[in-house]
Amino acid sequence: MNGFNIFDGYKDRGISPEVYEFCEKIWKDLKPRFDMIDEVSEYNQMKVLGAMQECNVAESCLLGTTGYGYNDLGRDTLEKVYAKVFHTEDALVRPQITCGTHALALALMSNLRPGDELLSPVGKPYDTLEEVIGIRPSKGSLKEYGVTYSQVDLLENGDFDYENIKKAINDRTKLVTIQRSKGYQTRPTLSVKRIGELISFIKNIKPDIVCMVDNCYGEFTEPLEPTDVGADAVVGSLIKNPGGGLAPIGGYIAGTKEFVENAAYRLTSPGLGKEVGASLGILPQFFQGFFLAPTVTANALKGAIFAANIYEKLGFSVLPNSTESRHDIIQAVTFNNPDAMIAFCKGIQFAAPVDSFVTPEPWDMPGYDSKVIMAAGAFVSGSSIELSADGPIKPPYSVYFQGGLTWQHAKFGIIRSLQELVNSRIVDTGNLLC
Ligand SMILES: *Cc1c(COP(=O)(O)O)cnc(C)c1O
Repeated sequence: MNGFNIFDGYKDRGISPEVYEFCEKIWKDLKPRFDMIDEVSEYNQMKVLGAMQECNVAESCLLGTTGYGYNDLGRDTLEKVYAKVFHTEDALVRPQITCGTHALALALMSNLRPGDELLSPVGKPYDTLEEVIGIRPSKGSLKEYGVTYSQVDLLENGDFDYENIKKAINDRTKLVTIQRSKGYQTRPTLSVKRIGELISFIKNIKPDIVCMVDNCYGEFTEPLEPTDVGADAVVGSLIKNPGGGLAPIGGYIAGTKEFVENAAYRLTSPGLGKEVGASLGILPQFFQGFFLAPTVTANALKGAIFAANIYEKLGFSVLPNSTESRHDIIQAVTFNNPDAMIAFCKGIQFAAPVDSFVTPEPWDMPGYDSKVIMAAGAFVSGSSIELSADGPIKPPYSVYFQGGLTWQHAKFGIIRSLQELVNSRIVDTGNLLC
């Protein structure tokens, strides 16, 4: 075979022929599905490239500023590029936005005023937002500032509870927050189409409600984004999909002029808004990461689907399942066995380019009621667009797996995780002979 044998590389990294063959067969059956993922990434690549060309991204845009950061050509151009890709009037894309939670908190706190009500029509939001909203008492929460919160859960079958959403909307309802990804819950992730249906329903009842989407983990998984189907704003983290693995920090808010303006005055200061905020040396990574983001997201999606197919075939329950359509990059695998969960995470860690020699151990993490295990050998600390896995050590012993900057690495990580389960005698080699 052209003088090289791919298995040699795997063998050198501790993979047995049985594990390799089992995984290889599953991968071959997935090729038609991977072709469709490549088509979406091709479409999104043209969208991002088109925006960069139309905004005249130039070499001088990569330089950056210091101090106040007035007239930062690169920063202002990057924000135009984001606005063009998300089809919004404006965008705020900054290294001063420290993470996804910060971006969401900023968007909410700047667009709500005392006396307003915030509504989540899709159930409980992401854990860290509980303190932002004040669901769990917290200093500086929206609740402390007199912003109330109401929530309508999804129906048992995952559908929107339209009847109770209608009842929940009142004359104080100012902003609706819709979380696209399931995050670490068991509900289905929302497709862009479903988000559009929900927004139409809400705007029919009260047209001036501002609809914001927590877009974390969803960017570029589909040809359309929530702002293409009526969302007033999308918000996310640059150490997930849109940073393309290169952004070492940052968050974005893309939306209507007013929404973004409010956020900018809050991020910096009333009167200053978007005009200040030096980009320092970060712009090459922000531009290049965004340029790579459609491909990197596709790689992570392939990894998630590959993992679902492998572990489903071995009899574990996986969410989403092996054939479902995908709207984010997160894959859950339920092991019902703490040792299996730990072995899985070890395999992911041992496959990493950084810290591969480290053995992950369950540890007590602030805010959790059980030990948590994490596998992360990333170039950017905590980056979850890079191959990573984590989960709480409690029944049903589910691990959440995401990322992979390249498909080849995501593939190896999953193969390595299975090898670890085989080495620990949790999976019998006999089960691989199908
Ligand atoms: C990751 C995530 C967040 C929070 O982002 P951090 O960068 O971890 O603060 C919020 N919502 C969803 C759906 C996420 O996946």
